[in-house]
Amino acid sequence: MRPTGKLHLGNYMGALKNWVELQDNYECYFFIADWHALTTDYADPSQIAPNTIEVMLDYLAAGLDPERSVLFLQSRVLQHAELALLLGMSTPLGWLERVPSYKEMQENLTNKDLETYGFLGYPVLMAADILLYQADFVPVGQDQQAHVELTREVARRFNQFYSLNGCEVLPEPKVLLTPSPKLPGTDGRKMSKSYGNTILISDPEPVVRKKLKTMVTDPARIRRSDPGDPDKCPVGDLHKVFSTPETLVKVYEGCRSAGIGCIECKSWAADALLKVLQPIQERRAKTTEEQAIEILEAGSRRAAVRAEQTMVEVREAMQLTLSTVEVG
Ligand code: SF4
Repeated sequence: MRPTGKLHLGNYMGALKNWVELQDNYECYFFIADWHALTTDYADPSQIAPNTIEVMLDYLAAGLDPERSVLFLQSRVLQHAELALLLGMSTPLGWLERVPSYKEMQENLTNKDLETYGFLGYPVLMAADILLYQADFVPVGQDQQAHVELTREVARRFNQFYSLNGCEVLPEPKVLLTPSPKLPGTDGRKMSKSYGNTILISDPEPVVRKKLKTMVTDPARIRRSDPGDPDKCPVGDLHKVFSTPETLVKVYEGCRSAGIGCIECKSWAADALLKVLQPIQERRAKTTEEQAIEILEAGSRRAAVRAEQTMVEVREAMQLTLSTVEVG
């Protein structure tokens, strides 16, 4: 994840929660992509370091475990830059210009000049992030699959040019499709930091309740006596993700018959959210910033050891080692 601020419920349900579960069955590497943050925030990098610490606190609070997974900071593992540079040599420019998010972000982030080499090249850096660990799988939601596909193409092209003793150095990673439920923000659009409609996983109870109170509802339900439809209401969508089947029945019946008011319905949604958030927030309160930094530095050292193993093979495959050159 890019360190652009504290993580929100959308980040949790779409990624973090899955990652925590993956730790039981896979050897996992999770990182904070501070160089990726620079691709859009290069003009003002002042928030990247403080945000890195916040994201790390959120990772640990959600249940990522440094005993079972490697948690690290991208910029501490210089091999990411080296592999990105080398992959960039063989990656066609057209592939990068065609990445849908390239045009999309340029159009959406109009307050930033994204006509830069770094921004165009971010998918190459992303490919390096994955291929550096010779990963079997990349856990992503449906909307992220295209990114992994590009990484696979970058690897395929590399392997066409270079190999080591007839073997591929950069295996193509597979997509590990993980659930990413539709999670609306308080304005009904997809929950996203750029829309300013998020509920943070570190928001205290009164803030969560206040945000829920202002959340938009089924537009057809204007008066208390009007029946509504939870399927047309963002609060209904939250219930579908977080509430128990019993509560869901009450919501559907009460909303469609105008038997309940939206305020009551929202307070049930807040209860359900807080049930998920409370254990996370309790864990967050027990970790200091110093501990988070220490864990991140230690994880980065572990990641660098694994990354270097790959780079030894990559350098050799690309004939960048002098040992094979006859001197004289
Ligand atoms: S009762 Fe609940 S589901 Fe129905 S419109 Fe109000 S907030 Fe939405």
